[in-house]
Amino acid sequence: MAGTTKYIFVTGGVLSSLGKGLASAAIGALLESRGLTISIQKLDPYINVDPGTMNPFQHGEVFVTDDGSETDLDLGHYERFTNAELGKNNNFTTGKIYYSVITKERRGDYLGGTVQVIPHITDEIKNSIRLLEEGMDIVIVEIGGTIGDIESLPFLEAIRQFRADIGKENVLYIHLTYVPYIATAGEIKTKPTQHSVKELRSIGIQPDILLCRTDRYLSKEIKAKIALFCNVDVDAVITAKDVECIYEVPLVFNKEGLDDKIVELLNIWTRSPRLDGWEKVVKSFKDPAYSVNIAIVGKYVDLTESYKSLNEALHHGSLSNDCRVNLIFVDSENLDNHNCDHTFSTIDGILVPGGFGPRGIEGKILAAKYARENKVPFFGICLGLQAAVIEFARNIAGLQNAHSTEFDEYTPYPVIYLMKEWLDERTGMKQVRDERSDKGGTMRLGAYPCHIAKGTFAYKAYGVSKISERHRHRYEFNNNYKAILEEKGLVISGTSPSGDLVEMVEVKDHPWFLGCQFHPEFKSRPMNPHPLFRDFIKGALEYNRRKS
Ligand code: GLN
Repeated sequence: MAGTTKYIFVTGGVLSSLGKGLASAAIGALLESRGLTISIQKLDPYINVDPGTMNPFQHGEVFVTDDGSETDLDLGHYERFTNAELGKNNNFTTGKIYYSVITKERRGDYLGGTVQVIPHITDEIKNSIRLLEEGMDIVIVEIGGTIGDIESLPFLEAIRQFRADIGKENVLYIHLTYVPYIATAGEIKTKPTQHSVKELRSIGIQPDILLCRTDRYLSKEIKAKIALFCNVDVDAVITAKDVECIYEVPLVFNKEGLDDKIVELLNIWTRSPRLDGWEKVVKSFKDPAYSVNIAIVGKYVDLTESYKSLNEALHHGSLSNDCRVNLIFVDSENLDNHNCDHTFSTIDGILVPGGFGPRGIEGKILAAKYARENKVPFFGICLGLQAAVIEFARNIAGLQNAHSTEFDEYTPYPVIYLMKEWLDERTGMKQVRDERSDKGGTMRLGAYPCHIAKGTFAYKAYGVSKISERHRHRYEFNNNYKAILEEKGLVISGTSPSGDLVEMVEVKDHPWFLGCQFHPEFKSRPMNPHPLFRDFIKGALEYNRRKS
């Protein structure tokens, strides 16, 4: 399909956490399965310019794209469900929109005019939405928040105007609502949906399609009732039923006729959808032959929504090993020499994920030690690599009290430290930073090239020697300790092309022990599991077999 790009706007009503991000991603997957090219954007009503500085406990994971943007975790869903290549233009916040308008105002771009929400902010929003259309048949735009929130009003006004700007046949409004089943009454209730649609209409948006989140399929009668009260076609009332596995969402939507309705309303001709890939993923999820227990050792407060991509990547890695992964979250603050054996007694693999701040760091170092000594498969990601290096330095290389300067400024052996100057091989430019540099600006962010040494776990996993992975950290391996650590048996299996930055380390004489400075979880896909997660789970499965 060539020609005008069409737009689908996804809003949410009644309450939050209904899965608007997943729904948008699933719509993207369905449209791609019909041969359309798509992109997806998230508009977030909060004032932060990006979620980079937000507390993951409040906001969930920060998802990092190749271009180094720190984005909302919904972009992780978009990347896992679709082939869309995402970057800074796929996530706008109120803060980012205002920042740009205020910058223009200061520069004098508005020529002395009064700068207002309508039209200046709404125009800025509309321009941001249009940044993605090149080469795209359809752009899906998810509006964060819930209808009725004060914060989202400028976004809703902008998307209302959008239909008039580019033509009725080019814009579709999809609204996700909640249809609860009230057990005591034995009934499904449509009133919250009616109210939410009424609210949406009061700001000038009549939804074309309703996605109704429920725990059961909606009957014809209920659909007819919702259609009548909300002024939509009966076949535009779609059951968004709860599912056991998130990759089932595109299949449920397809069964309910969602993609047929979208192409009908947008007047697009496409081939019929090919969903066998998704069917296979769901089948493997639901019916695996084996299972493994993986301990994720982190700070208690982080062990919730903050590891979304990590959890998914572990599931993907299990898929390719025909097994189910049970995730056991271990609070590293409670881990000590005495309870390690007990804590890890049923565990087949230990993973120390990324993290910031000193809380629980000794427990993470201890987890690396336990894994090394007991030959339990170990996967250290970012801070996890750093913990493994500190452990190795202290206990094998005899560098007593070795540490990262993030946690101990005065450590005698700063094996992990803030590299003051380094060569950014993407741009060929020197980067400079120190302890005083501002927190938002000093991180190594986004995709960096890495070269892998042959004969390592890393090379076995990737099968190639040049890779690119995404980063989000400040501290680095200190090359002053490279020689001594290598001499004692630490394997540097991945570095930046010039060799300046250590990207992966391993331990010899171990079934599988690998740490990486980057975040491989951001690039794992259900149909294309990340090689490191695949091999880590494989190692865990083998460990499990050896045990029993
Ligand atoms: N806190 C560490 C650093 O800044 C690790 C960061 C991470 O794990 N993402 O280098």
